[in-house]
Amino acid sequence: MLETLAARQLPPPEHAGWHEGRERSIAQHCPYVAALGDDEAFRLRNRRRSSGRRSSVMMLGALCYDPGPTFRPAPEVSRSMTDAPAFPPNGLIVSVATTGSWPTKTQTPALPVTPEEIATDAVACAEAGAAIAHVHMRDAQGRVTCDPAHYTRTRKLIEQAGSDVIVNMSTGGGAGLTTDEERMAPVALEPEIASFDCGSLNFGERVFVNSPQFLKELATRMNAHGVRPEIECFEPGHVWNALRLIDDGLLTPPFWFQFVLGVRGGAPPTVKQLHHLVDMLPPDAHWSVCGIGRAQLPLGMAAMAMGGHVRTGLEDNLYYRKGELATNRRLVERLVRIAGELGRPVATPAQARALLGLSARSAARA
Ligand code: ZN
Repeated sequence: MLETLAARQLPPPEHAGWHEGRERSIAQHCPYVAALGDDEAFRLRNRRRSSGRRSSVMMLGALCYDPGPTFRPAPEVSRSMTDAPAFPPNGLIVSVATTGSWPTKTQTPALPVTPEEIATDAVACAEAGAAIAHVHMRDAQGRVTCDPAHYTRTRKLIEQAGSDVIVNMSTGGGAGLTTDEERMAPVALEPEIASFDCGSLNFGERVFVNSPQFLKELATRMNAHGVRPEIECFEPGHVWNALRLIDDGLLTPPFWFQFVLGVRGGAPPTVKQLHHLVDMLPPDAHWSVCGIGRAQLPLGMAAMAMGGHVRTGLEDNLYYRKGELATNRRLVERLVRIAGELGRPVATPAQARALLGLSARSAARA
C-alpha cells in the first residue's frame, strides 16, 4: 500500500515548514499510513483538493514528518478580538474540575456536589487563579445527572457571586448511566465551553461510549449553539478522531484540547505519552493536560514546562499529597505558585476568552 501511495505522488503537506523541512518519506516513517486503505487515502487526498480545508492528508503529513522539539512558542492570540484583553506571552490557563462523575462525599468531604457547593468552590478557585471551572452535576442522592436545571442554577450562582470564571459544562454523563440525548442537554444552555469526549474507551470497570454518530451530533449542536468544545482525548486514537472531525468541518479553530492521562483503559500518565499527543496536534491548537490521581501534579508541571496549559481538581485527584486529602482551592493555589516560579503568568478568564475565541454571555442572559 505504501508503494501505491508513492506511485500516486502524494504531494507533500503544505505545512512542511512547520517541521523545518526535516521531512522523511512516508513509506519509511509513518506507522499511521498503514492504518488506511488505498481507497481511504485517495478519498482524503481528493477531498483536500476540492475543499481547500486542512485535510486528513495534511494531518497525515503532520504525523509522518519528524516533529522536532516538543516545545513551541505560545500560539498567537487572535487579533480579531481587538476589544478583548490580550493573552499574556507564555500565559497559563488553569482549569479546575471541581466534581466529576464518580468521586463521593464519603471519599472526601471536600467534594462539592450541590449547585451551591459547586458554585462556591468554582468562585474560590477563580479567586485563586483558575480561569475555567469544569463542572459536573449531581442529583439529591449524589449521583451524576445531566439535568439542565442543575447546570443553570450553578452558573447563575457563580455569576451572582460576581465571578467571571468561564463555565465549562460536562457532556460526559455517567458511563452506562445516561443516554446520549441526556448528555447533550447542557449544550442548549450555551455554555462558553463544554466537554467533547473524542472517542470511546474502557474506563476503569466501565465502558465509556462516544460513538461516531454521537460525536457528529454533539459537534453539530455545539456549533449551532456557539459552544467551544473542549476536545478531551484519553489516548492517541481520540486525537486521530478529532483530526477527522476537523477535516469534516465539524470542529473549527481555535482548537482547545484536553489530554486526560491515567484513566485505566486510556493512555498511561507519562511525559512520553504527553509528548506523543502534543506532536499529533494541528500546529495552531491549544492544549491542556490533566493527570489522574498521583500523576496530576507531575504531568501538570511537565505541561507547564512544555508550553501547555493545566487542569487540576478533585474530579481527577482527591489528594494533595500521599495520605492528605485536597481541596479544589488548594490544588489551584499550588499550581499557581509553581507557575510563578516557572515564569508562566496565570491567565484571567478574560485573557483565556481572548485566546480561545469566547465571549462572556452573562450580560446577554440577564
Ligand atoms: Zn469532567
